[in-house]
Amino acid sequence: MALNLTEVDSVQILIKHKASCHCGAVELELSLPDGLVDIRCCDCSLCRRKGAIVASVPLSELKILKGEKNLRLYQFNTKTAKHYFCSICGIYTHHQRRSNPDQYGFNVACLEGINPLKIDNVPTYDGVYHPADHDA
Ligand SMILES: [Zn+2]
Repeated sequence: MALNLTEVDSVQILIKHKASCHCGAVELELSLPDGLVDIRCCDCSLCRRKGAIVASVPLSELKILKGEKNLRLYQFNTKTAKHYFCSICGIYTHHQRRSNPDQYGFNVACLEGINPLKIDNVPTYDGVYHPADHDA
């Protein structure tokens, strides 16, 4: 069911793909040997305001190349997830997941040359009914 892609609208996802916020203060490098993995949007109270399409990487596969000091952290509810955004332009870049703290979700729209609106049928992740809220 997970949506994985190695290219978007004929643009190849690179093994080391750069990403940046809108103003360029924050630059990331993502290791994406398998392309975009587990592409989704989420309907939780934060994501539905943000409207971002995200994909997943293990924590070790996201490097901040530039502008770490410009990142701001936003936390709410259980304060487990860590949502980062650029303090200058306000763009969400990545977050450490609550559903899987070993992963970052990142903003596909921040990837150099990638237009996430060209991705068809992005699955919606049920963030209203969060998996961490209903563990047996
Ligand atoms: Zn910025």
